[in-house]
Amino acid sequence: MEQQNLYHRLSQRIKEISNLPKLKEERSIQDLISENGVSRRDFMKWAASMTAMLSLPASFSPLIAQAAEVSDRLPVIWLHMAECTGCSESLLRTDTPTIDSLIFDYISLKYHETIMAAFGWQAEHNLKEAIEEHKGKYILMVEGGIPAGSSDFYLTIGGHGETGQKSAKEAANNAAAIFAIGTCSSFGGIQAAHPNPTNSQPLSKITNKPVINVPGCPPSEKNIVGNVLHYILFGTLPALDVFNRPKWAYGLRIHDLCERRGRFDAGEFVQRFGDEGAKQGYCLYKVGCKGPYTFNNCSRERFNQHTSWPVQAGHGCIGCSEPDFWDTMGPFEEPMADRRFNTLYGLGADATADRVGIAILTLTAIGIAAHATVTAFKNKNK
Ligand code: SF4
Ligand code: SF4
Repeated sequence: MEQQNLYHRLSQRIKEISNLPKLKEERSIQDLISENGVSRRDFMKWAASMTAMLSLPASFSPLIAQAAEVSDRLPVIWLHMAECTGCSESLLRTDTPTIDSLIFDYISLKYHETIMAAFGWQAEHNLKEAIEEHKGKYILMVEGGIPAGSSDFYLTIGGHGETGQKSAKEAANNAAAIFAIGTCSSFGGIQAAHPNPTNSQPLSKITNKPVINVPGCPPSEKNIVGNVLHYILFGTLPALDVFNRPKWAYGLRIHDLCERRGRFDAGEFVQRFGDEGAKQGYCLYKVGCKGPYTFNNCSRERFNQHTSWPVQAGHGCIGCSEPDFWDTMGPFEEPMADRRFNTLYGLGADATADRVGIAILTLTAIGIAAHATVTAFKNKNK
């Protein structure tokens, strides 16, 4: 009964959104996907996988398909702050577009500096116009850390010389929902690495409105598009962990669903890249994998249409979706067990993402190291 009510509520919301005017008088999502060689059947399979990813019952997949179909009614403003544009590029630069990247093309991007033709005065004007025209209705996505405080001149851009901080604040003030896309925008990223010369800050420090963090370097396109679909369906914040990451995407550790987990439990470790263990697909913990400390869905969702992901390709996770990973997870090809543990603020967590103290994290990290050592020792002496 509860499920039926939810289905009804979500259908109503999609109906309301579909009554809004189309923001682009272009082709439908069906036309777009078939032009790119994707069949309706594949589209429905994609909808079913997104339904599972959002932890909704399988019977809700037609709703996901409908939510994608009405995504061109949602105005999206995408701002670039201090970053490498890798988050945008990972969605845009693909020779065989996935359905996720096609949906990204399909949503109504009212402002996106990488792909728009305007620049200078015209670009500034377009941003102000988009904010004014869609006040209170648009989704704001921000990529990049934001230089703040006495050093905010580091991101002074445009014809009027506005700071990045000022334009991010203004856009956030008038947004219906705000997503920090990537680790830089979510947590400061490499720009905020010690000694943080530009005083780069996460978006959540710049605005007092709720910000949903979608970290990753870059975040997977599934996690970006999943958030858009969730917003279309629910219009509310998803359940979030202590770092404001949606639990449907960041609720599990990389380690929990890793295909090499059996090797870890058996104490079978790659000791050096290229050794016999590497050829046999052993666990990458001893060559630096940070999967046990990192919350993300890469080991379940993978990349490039579920083809592969870093651990499958033979390199450990570097913990890119955790706060301060640049300072706390490196060197990337050494295990945490070889390091001191008293500087681990923000490493993510073990046990669950919501409630962990540094002490527990430290103990768990030591526990993992001990487990790894003991099992390897046992193996050696078999
Ligand atoms: S340590 Fe890394 S490679 Fe090993 S099982 Fe965990 S996630 Fe997989
Ligand atoms: S496997 Fe680890 S480093 Fe790679 S994208 Fe996922 S969280 Fe980031």
